[in-house]
Amino acid sequence: MKIAFFDTKPYDKPSFDFYSQDSGITFKYFETKLNEDTVDLAHGFDGVCVFVNDTVNAAVIDRLYEMGVKVVALRCAGFNNVDMKHAYGKLHIFRVPAYSPYAVAEHTMALLLTSIRRIHKAYIRTRDYNFSLAGMTGFDLYGKTVGVIGTGRIGRVFIDICRGFGMRVLAYDKFPAADLDNGDTVRYVSLDELFKNSDIISLHCPLTEDTYHIIDENSLEKCKRGVVLLNTSRGALVDAEALLAGIKSRKVGAACLDVYEEEADFFFEDYSGHILDDDTLARLISMPNVIVTSHQAFLTEEALANIASTTVDNIAGYMKDGQCPNELCWRCGSAEDCKTGKCF
Ligand code: NAD
Repeated sequence: MKIAFFDTKPYDKPSFDFYSQDSGITFKYFETKLNEDTVDLAHGFDGVCVFVNDTVNAAVIDRLYEMGVKVVALRCAGFNNVDMKHAYGKLHIFRVPAYSPYAVAEHTMALLLTSIRRIHKAYIRTRDYNFSLAGMTGFDLYGKTVGVIGTGRIGRVFIDICRGFGMRVLAYDKFPAADLDNGDTVRYVSLDELFKNSDIISLHCPLTEDTYHIIDENSLEKCKRGVVLLNTSRGALVDAEALLAGIKSRKVGAACLDVYEEEADFFFEDYSGHILDDDTLARLISMPNVIVTSHQAFLTEEALANIASTTVDNIAGYMKDGQCPNELCWRCGSAEDCKTGKCF
C-alpha cells in the first residue's frame, strides 16, 4: 500500500522506515500539513498518515474519497481533528490509542516541577553567573491536592507519579474507573469540588463537545487563588483568553501548557525570526509563571517507536484481511460513542 505521510518531521522518518521494512507499505513523506489546499497530494495513494494538526474535515474527507483513498492512519491518540461522522462509510480511520502514557505523564510532572521550583529561571540565571535566589521560592508538592480531569491511560500514570510525591488526588472522569478511588488519597469528586479544592489541576481528558473550554472564566472563578494549571492534553480544553485574564488577576498562580488552542498555526515550526501573529500566545509566553512547550509531551524514543510500529501494524492488518484493532467508529457507527473512545 502507498501511504502519503503528512506533516513529516525529521524524527518521524527513521522509525517509520525501520518498522515498514518488508511490510508491503511504502511511505511518501510530505512536510506540509494535510488540509483542503494540500489534499490533492494524496492523489494515487491508498491512504494518508496524519498527526495532531492535520485537518481531516468534511471537505478533505470528500476529496480523499473521490480520489480513491481508503485509509486515514492517525499517528496519534486524539482524533478531534477528524470529522468522524462525515468519514463514516467513506474512509477507514485508524489511530494509535496508546504509545506511551508515561511520556506524556512524565512531561506533565517535568513541567510542574520546572514551574513551581523555578528551574526555567535558575537555568538562565546561573548561565549568566547570577547566583541570587531572590524570587526563587517554590512550594512542596508533598501534601498538596492535585485535581486530575480524565483518568484514562495518561491520567492514571500521572496520578501514580503524584502519589509518589505524597500528594492527595481529586479525580473527575465522565466514565470513572472502578478500581481507582481508594476513599482516601485518591477520590472521585464532582468537577465543582475538584475546582474548589485543588492546588494544582491537570487535564488528561480528550477534546470533545463536553470538554471544550472546560477551563474558562466560570471554572477559574471556582478555583483556589494561586491554582497551578497543567494542560498536556488538547489546547481547546482551555479558554486561553480566560487563562490570560486569570494570570493577570493573580487568580492563576502558574500555567504549564504543552498544547494551545491555536497551536496548529505555530507549533512544530521555527518562528524565531518572526513577529508572532497571536497576541494571546505571545502574552502568555511573556509571563514569568507560564511555561509553554510545543506539543512535545509525546516525544520520547519509546513513544516514537510505538507510534511507528502500531501505525504500520494498523495499515498491515487492514491490508491483510480488512481488520484493524485500532479502527475508530467503523464498528459502532456512532460518532458520539467514538468521541468518548468507548466504542472499541
Ligand atoms: P484515554 O482515552 O485513555 O483517557 C481519556 C479519559 O478521559 C477517559 O478515562 C475518558 O473516560 C475521560 N473522558 C472522556 N470524556 C470526558 C469528559 N467529558 N470529562 C472528563 N473525562 C472524560 O486517553 P489518554 O491516552 O489518557 O490521553 C488523554 C488525552 O491526552 C488525549 O485525548 C490527547 O488529547 C492527549 N494527548 C496528548 C499528547 C501530547 O503530546 N501532549 C500525547 C498523547 C495524548
